[in-house]
Amino acid sequence: MTATETTIVALATPPGRSALGTVRISGPMCLELARALLGTAPEPRRATALTLRRKGTAIDRVVATYWAGPSTPTGEDLLELSAHGSPEILREIVEAALEAGARAAAPGEFTRRAYVNGRLDLAQARAVGDLIAARGKAARAAAFKRLEGGLGDALDKVRAPLLELLAALEVRLDHPEEDIAPLSGGEADLPLEHAAASLQRLVSGYARGRARREGARVGLFGSPNAGKSSLLNALLGRERAITSPEPGTTRDLLEEQAEFSGAPVTLIDTAGLHGGAAGPAEREGVARAERALESCEVAILVVDASRPANEQDEQVRATVSAAAARRGARLIVALNKMDLAGGRSAPGEGLACSALTGEGIAQLEAAIAAAGGGADDEGETLLDDARGAAALAEALAEIGAARTEIAARPNAWEDRAADRLRRALSLLNETRGDGAPEDVLDEIFSKFCVGK
Ligand code: GDP
Repeated sequence: MTATETTIVALATPPGRSALGTVRISGPMCLELARALLGTAPEPRRATALTLRRKGTAIDRVVATYWAGPSTPTGEDLLELSAHGSPEILREIVEAALEAGARAAAPGEFTRRAYVNGRLDLAQARAVGDLIAARGKAARAAAFKRLEGGLGDALDKVRAPLLELLAALEVRLDHPEEDIAPLSGGEADLPLEHAAASLQRLVSGYARGRARREGARVGLFGSPNAGKSSLLNALLGRERAITSPEPGTTRDLLEEQAEFSGAPVTLIDTAGLHGGAAGPAEREGVARAERALESCEVAILVVDASRPANEQDEQVRATVSAAAARRGARLIVALNKMDLAGGRSAPGEGLACSALTGEGIAQLEAAIAAAGGGADDEGETLLDDARGAAALAEALAEIGAARTEIAARPNAWEDRAADRLRRALSLLNETRGDGAPEDVLDEIFSKFCVGK
């Protein structure tokens, strides 16, 4: 029997004594159960007061509400019985339903059915759990927005023009004999550009949402000896990282919690981002810095402003700015060691500072607070899970690669761009939760309580 062929029952209100308690029943047997328990089938969508009986004995006067599927929260017939809030009465009602053929619902099974029957997408199903669990106004509002807004709708808007473009490409690739006018690179690029902008909003929204909940992750990056550890100490106002005049001392990641202008942040000091690191420990440090770069909402590029930039500095700058741009992270350039610059003005754009004298440190803190806080926007609350955010970031990269193909091969881009597009679309479907594997569903719904 498939899930939706059975009829499930559970107490939907907390156990214990209260004024009222509600038993929820979902599935094809709702009307049959209503007849067995209430002696009649209640009129749909109308609260009806009726006497509920178990094996002929009157248990309570209840308010019964019946909804015919599929336009119901679970996508199937639904019956809610509101009784007096006595645990004994409510238990009798659940047992009466079980005797009449229903099965006890598993945790989150009502919501799972809503997902299976297409009434909610996976992000919305998760939002149901978040909404009930949320403490505090902001968390509650965010969960409600996710439930209402639906990531699915946002993804559908991204997906539709991409599907159209893929279809147009495929018909030309599969039927060269048909003599269909070729697509120009510009025609193909436009929907990709729009899709990339929308995805970027969702991805950076996720980063900002997480930053608001948990505090932004702020990483310090730069060439060895640029003064990352010293700046971390200056920002924290105390000695934490080991500074040393020898390049390459910071081999591990140091994470420190701090608060700037009321905004919680996690400051992360990383090993120098440079190739050709000497020992294995240092190579590991560089690898960790690169991973940290992938998880930061704010990247601070620390530049040694006391000397001209060398090739390695340029490389580090390119790596850090590219990673920040790809992930929608904010980039702050800290021009450190200005005390050694001998009165020269700062080389290039950035915040002039000195970890040694404390010059510019307050401004750096303000910039971090501003970048880590971020303004509210629509994309912010839609995407809430790390797995989804990673898939969308990957889809974004695929779309970027498709656009690169178009730009780089004006006459032979179709094949490769179509491949990238297919991959991006499958990542979007994955994020939308279409055909999510059973174990993923089990994990999500097992966290729900019974009756939800
Ligand atoms: P990291 O490798 O980027 O973490 O660099 P460190 O913080 O260990 O600093 C490397 C060297 O530069 C140390 O000797 C620091 O004392 C020195 N240093 C760091 N910041 C400043 C600064 O603003 N001014 C001066 N004069 N020296 C600095």
